[in-house]
Amino acid sequence: MDKDYDLIVIGAGPGGYVAALRGAQLGFKVGCIDNWLDPDGKPSLGGTCLNAGCIPSKALLDTSHHFSALRTEYADQGILVDGLRIDVETMLARKRNVVNTLTQGIATLFKTQDIDWLKGHGQLLGTGRVGFTAHDRKTPKELTADNVILAPGSSPIMLDSVPLDGEYVVDSTGALEFTEVPKRLAVIGAGVIGLELGSVWNRLGSDVTLLEAQSEFLPIADQALARTALKSYTNQGLQIKLGTRIKSAKLSGKSVRAVFEDASGEQQERYDRVIVAVGRRPNTSGLFTDASSLLLDERGCIHVDEYCRTNLPGVWAIGDAVRGPMLAHKGEEEGVMVVERIAGQNSATEPDLIPSVIYTMPEFAWVGPTEQKLKQAGIPYRSGRFPFAANGRARAQGDVEGEVKLLAHAETDRLLGAHIFGPSASELVMQAVIAMSMEATSEDLARTIFAHPTLSESVHEAALAVDGRALHMAGKPKRG
Ligand code: FAD
Ligand code: NAD
Repeated sequence: MDKDYDLIVIGAGPGGYVAALRGAQLGFKVGCIDNWLDPDGKPSLGGTCLNAGCIPSKALLDTSHHFSALRTEYADQGILVDGLRIDVETMLARKRNVVNTLTQGIATLFKTQDIDWLKGHGQLLGTGRVGFTAHDRKTPKELTADNVILAPGSSPIMLDSVPLDGEYVVDSTGALEFTEVPKRLAVIGAGVIGLELGSVWNRLGSDVTLLEAQSEFLPIADQALARTALKSYTNQGLQIKLGTRIKSAKLSGKSVRAVFEDASGEQQERYDRVIVAVGRRPNTSGLFTDASSLLLDERGCIHVDEYCRTNLPGVWAIGDAVRGPMLAHKGEEEGVMVVERIAGQNSATEPDLIPSVIYTMPEFAWVGPTEQKLKQAGIPYRSGRFPFAANGRARAQGDVEGEVKLLAHAETDRLLGAHIFGPSASELVMQAVIAMSMEATSEDLARTIFAHPTLSESVHEAALAVDGRALHMAGKPKRG
């Protein structure tokens, strides 16, 4: 019997929709099931990333950055603004507009590539069999396909002690929708979301406190740069309380009463709003039947191998629902790899070359292992550092905080990692990603001609510094 599809994808976030697009390019008949509904109850493609993650958060980060720069940074350039104020309603409307433009763009791509957008819930029944319940139906219909890709994404982790109420105590989605600037805002968790969304509201005038359980700040990042970043964020007004255990946070009257404990004992504070941002967990509930025998790993992710194969033949899983960092670009590349492998190509992804970015101002970006990790692994390395304060373009634009740090193997000189806290770090780190994916050495970068004056020259100087020959650095050349 003919199958309904060559490929069914469950989930239309960056993992799933990109897999669907690549599948169509390769000539597959593709159905993509997605259950996302926008705030008006309309189906919307793009998953968390486009609807409630990467894109809306960056829209608010950009608006709030312009506002804060006008308020605090541009006076020394002679730009003086009287009567500056933020119209939150317009800011939110613009953000919605950005989201709608992009999500509708994916719908257009689906249409032009003949991908069936199946609006509703998908459930894996077994190899090649999927139950699909349309939003306007109660009972599922069985669909068949040669291959199934599971790309259900993730949802915020909740804390029993801090129940959400959707208005005063919210998750990251709620924090993108505050209709006014809260006077006092607490964010539980000083991870990526805490820092980005905490920055948005801090720049708009909130008094923001981040309550973080761990005693180390951003343990996944380079620790020297993390210390610089912590100082910078603190100077910007974020109060980051490390080693803090939240005991409860509940609405009482018109504000939230939070009880937490740190080294100085138990404390109580009142906040106008609280955001819970303590990590995300894979969306596996209702995704598959017991009879399908799909395996999860010990952390509740869908178990996959390096090629994103699950334990079931013809069933693959990608994105936030499988091991590895929860990042949009990681899911996208896994989607492309899986579909190309289905088509008989020998595609692979390179987990060591996934860049991470925290879109604060300055930005914090890195790729590859940190110095801590290299030391632990006993890998000999040399590091080259260059501060933005010594870069002409950074001076000219008034963004002198931070530095570039490159790490190269001590014997082969092959680039192992790049860690950047500073202006446009998200763009600069890509130079290292490209160099590393071509197996370049620090000498290759050092011998490359960089345009002047650019921020990129800091990458060049850091490469020179690996060999102790940075040109625009005061003092004696330093090696290692
Ligand atoms: P998702 O984007 O979560 O999409 C999964 C889709 O599948 C959803 O539409 C979901 O409703 C649907 N679905 C789930 N189960 C079913 C089912 N059974 N049937 C039908 N449909 C189903 N990452 C970055 O790389 N850069 C950033 O700047 C960034 N910023 C972020 C900011 C915030 C506030 C948040 C919350 C996340 C951010 N992320 C960022 C993370 C990024 O959003 C995720 O890594 C990415 O969206 C994961 O893609 P995905 O395709 O795996 O899943
Ligand atoms: P995260 O893992 O980055 O940070 C969560 C923080 O909460 C950690 O520092 C953790 O120690 C802390 N925490 C955990 N339990 C706590 C508790 N009970 N009390 C206080 N602190 C506690 O997770 P996130 O910020 O929620 O983001 C979720 C995912 O979304 C991340 O994996 C991230 O990769 C992705 N994301 C990426 C971007 C980006 O790429 N720029 C932006 C936002 C989100």
